[in-house]
Amino acid sequence: MPATKFSCPDGQEIPISGCLEDGCRCGTRCMFLPTLRAVAQSSDRKLDEPSVTELLTGTREVFLKKTKDYAINPEDALYALQGQGIHGIHEKHIDGDILAEVRLKDGTTSGKFDLYGQLLDEDTGTLGDLKVTSSYKLMRALGYYKKSVPTGEFYKTGAKKGQPKYRQELFTDGVRYVMDWALQLNYYRILLEQQGFEVKRMFIQAICRDGSLRIAAERGIDRNVYIIPINKISDQWLIRYFKHKAKALKEAIATGEIPKLCSVRERWHDKKCQSYCDVADYCDHGQAIKQAMIKKAG
Ligand code: SF4
Ligand code: SF4
Repeated sequence: MPATKFSCPDGQEIPISGCLEDGCRCGTRCMFLPTLRAVAQSSDRKLDEPSVTELLTGTREVFLKKTKDYAINPEDALYALQGQGIHGIHEKHIDGDILAEVRLKDGTTSGKFDLYGQLLDEDTGTLGDLKVTSSYKLMRALGYYKKSVPTGEFYKTGAKKGQPKYRQELFTDGVRYVMDWALQLNYYRILLEQQGFEVKRMFIQAICRDGSLRIAAERGIDRNVYIIPINKISDQWLIRYFKHKAKALKEAIATGEIPKLCSVRERWHDKKCQSYCDVADYCDHGQAIKQAMIKKAG
């Protein structure tokens, strides 16, 4: 089921059809009409075969999005539209050596890879995925992190007198947090290989959406685009994982029973439940997290 309502900037909700067809309840639209139409279209969730990206999301969240009437804030969907725009631009610039945006499926799921072919050099077996992302996510994907290090100086006065001074320093030898990207790209690899295409290497081309800001520079992100290699994940593990997720979602839809809680990774350590899950109002955990936030604030 697609989202059925828009959350307006003043917090009121309106049926999407009412907004798009009858006009803005506030008189002047909060964004251009074609942008609102694109947002509405991008929220469509069908009940059929789950896609690779749906299976990477928490099963409970996808189940609720497919079965409930829910509202989306058009502003929150704009980054996703940016990403779709980048895909559209690339599609217009491929030649015979590159395949783009082909949907492939197997008995478990379906997925549309972005680019495959001669993407970086003479190698014809390169699988690429396009991302538009934040400097924070890029910092983590590159294995950059900050740590307090002693400056060698000491406080001379005040409560901290005699204690060492520290400063935050950036390090680039940390763990690369690319699990979601790796799961997605590796499943596209499997789908391509099932069709007889050899995938030798996988890369994410990540465009930084806040690259010009000081915060990005402080995170060590000094370029607007990064090519990030993705390692191979065991086929056996990956197929088992996606089959398990697809089965849980299918069973929930067939029985109408809400699936178990999204995993800690899927719910971003509850950050998603706090502010970024459109169906949190239908989830007991989402409600509890929001109630706790309200209690803390006031
Ligand atoms: S245009 Fe924006 S403010 Fe107006 S009704 Fe639609 S969502 Fe609400
Ligand atoms: S509120 Fe959290 S746990 Fe509930 S569906 Fe959303 S992401 Fe999952």
